[in-house]
Amino acid sequence: MKNGKKLIVANWKMHKTQTESLEFLNFFLNEIKKDHDREVILFPPFTSLGVISKHLYGTKVRLGAQNIHWDDYGSYTGSISGLMLGELDVKYVIVNHYERLRCEQNPYDKMTNLRLKAAQRHAITPILCVGETQEQRNADETEKIIDTQLSNALSDVDLNNLIIGYESIWAIGTGESCKPSEANRIIAWIRKQLGKKDIPIIYGGSVTHSNIKGIMAQPEINGVMVGSLSLDPTSLARIVNF
Ligand code: PEP
Repeated sequence: MKNGKKLIVANWKMHKTQTESLEFLNFFLNEIKKDHDREVILFPPFTSLGVISKHLYGTKVRLGAQNIHWDDYGSYTGSISGLMLGELDVKYVIVNHYERLRCEQNPYDKMTNLRLKAAQRHAITPILCVGETQEQRNADETEKIIDTQLSNALSDVDLNNLIIGYESIWAIGTGESCKPSEANRIIAWIRKQLGKKDIPIIYGGSVTHSNIKGIMAQPEINGVMVGSLSLDPTSLARIVNF
């Protein structure tokens, strides 16, 4: 991060009703250290954004959304726009998470690019997810794949308001995380490709209490995206307090 803080991105995916979200917050806000120096961002499902937004007012925890449509209004059943998110004090959005790509066609095509620009138009910082499958890694294609993902997504996107999430797809929700030194290497490579030293780049993929120390110690890694472990307030607080 530009302010030097490590990012903790908590992606709840399709978990937690509004009631469960508030229960989580009641525990979580009490368990994190008052003087922690992390940028903590919760990504609840859309249905909980309103209630969490009110609850987070006056705290250091920020709010993010799990997806964004590129238009502000329109006939797009089931979609949510940046205009709507901005009104809820959403400051970040995940774009192109692998679990969304499994539901949509043409990954990393023009729509990714449009989503990134829509977020920026509404002063929301997008987190662009990139990463390789196990087959691509085995074939030694990791850098080639990520390079294509980046160049397709980033045309005319403002690199000053962007976070990259390196999520090795084979590590998402599998319990098998990328070695910290390898994640560090790929992230250093991404930063070099983008030609921007201060762009925040985080790692995601089976982050746990056992590997968080090694990941956070890596000089190129600006934080983590946490999925499964972020659903439990005590587990997430341990990551923040680490
Ligand atoms: C994610 O959903 O982005 C993620 C990294 O999940 P998990 O921590 O469960 O691997």
